[in-house]
Amino acid sequence: MIVAIDGPAGAGKSSVARRLAHRLGFQFLDTGAMYRAITYAALRRKLGPQDHDTIAEMAQRVSLIMHDDRVLLDGFDVTALIRTSEVATQVFLAADNRRVRERLVQLQREFANSNDTVTEGRDQGTIAFPNAECKIFLTASAEERAGRRHAELKQRGEAISYEDVLAQLNERDRRDSEREYGALRRAADAIDVCTDGLTQDQVITKLEGIVQKRQRELTLV
Ligand code: C5P
Repeated sequence: MIVAIDGPAGAGKSSVARRLAHRLGFQFLDTGAMYRAITYAALRRKLGPQDHDTIAEMAQRVSLIMHDDRVLLDGFDVTALIRTSEVATQVFLAADNRRVRERLVQLQREFANSNDTVTEGRDQGTIAFPNAECKIFLTASAEERAGRRHAELKQRGEAISYEDVLAQLNERDRRDSEREYGALRRAADAIDVCTDGLTQDQVITKLEGIVQKRQRELTLV
C-alpha cells in the first residue's frame, strides 16, 4: 500500500508522515530530502541556475540512499547538512529541473516497489504515485507553517527572524505551485487535512484513521 502525503512547506508533513509510517509498520520516504540532497551536491560543486544541464547529469550519477532517517549522498551522511535555510532557498536548482525530477521520481518508485510505504512531498499523489491507494493533502496557514519552521531552525542554532522565514516560505510556495512539471498540486482523489490548531498527535491519529478506513475498504473490494 502507498500512502502519498503532499502539501506546502512547513505543514508538518515530514514529522507526521514519519511517525505515521512507524505506527503502521510501513517504510517512510521524505522526498523533499532527496531534492535537498541534490541541491546540496550542486552547491558544493558551486553550480547555479545557469548550470541546468550539469546539475541534471550530476543527479543521474550520484548515489542517493534513503535509509531509515538518514540521507546518504555518495556514501556520506548529509542528513543534517541538507536542513539549512541556504539549501531551502536554493532547492529550486533541483526542483525546477525536469531531468532531476524524472530521476528522483524513478528512485522514489524503486524505493516503494516492494514495501508498504508512506511517502511525502509535493507531487507524490499526482506524478510519482498516481495510483496510490491513499492520498492526503496536508495544509496549514502560512503563519502557522512559518512559526513551526522558525522554531525548528532556531533549535538548530540558525539565526533567522520569523519574518524572513515567512518570506522564504511564501516564495518557496509560489515556486512550488508554479513550476511547469511536478508542481505542488492536490490530487483530485486526495483527502484534505488542515493541521491548524492541532497537535502532532492529533494529526497522526486523524491520518491513521483515514489510512485504516482505506485499508478496510480495500479488503472489502
Ligand atoms: O519538504 P521540504 O521542505 O524538505 O522540500 C524541499 C523542497 O523540495 C520543496 O520546497 C520543493 O521545492 C522540493 N520538493 C519537490 N517535490 C517533492 C518534494 C520536495 O519539488 N516531491
